[in-house]
Amino acid sequence: MKKLLISSCLLGENVRYDGKIKRCMDPLFYEIIKNSQIFTVCPEVDGGLPTPRDPSEIVSLNPLKIVNSKGKDVTSFFEKGAKKALKVCKKHKIKVALLKSKSPSCSNNFIYDGTFSKKLIKGEGVTAKLLKENGIKVFNENELIDLLEYLKKI
Ligand code: SF4
Repeated sequence: MKKLLISSCLLGENVRYDGKIKRCMDPLFYEIIKNSQIFTVCPEVDGGLPTPRDPSEIVSLNPLKIVNSKGKDVTSFFEKGAKKALKVCKKHKIKVALLKSKSPSCSNNFIYDGTFSKKLIKGEGVTAKLLKENGIKVFNENELIDLLEYLKKI
């Protein structure tokens, strides 16, 4: 069985900022998790943030700065959660991750632009970026066909 790191909110765990349960309902998702050894993380909760919590957005990449909708700097929580996710991958030799799209932690392609106006821009969440930099292939829940193909090849 292939090892796979998964954003725990995709499995319906109550870790989202808004406290809502949003399980991924795609049949392919179930096929993938049934045939994988899964390891779950929620970098924001693992980094010390509560559920529910105020939504956060990345306002600066260099230096990294993430603030919540009340203006509080929450960068350190995100960095801590990302490091913990990488630690899980290293400990268990995980080379592939399925992470939630559009999240300032987990997204592998688009993030909100830092103005809290629901505008998406190209960019990566803190955890997805760190995992990629360490050679871990990251997919999101809209790339399940690609993930399935990838898992068959490795
Ligand atoms: S997207 Fe990532 S950080 Fe956000 S709730 Fe899901 S697992 Fe946690």
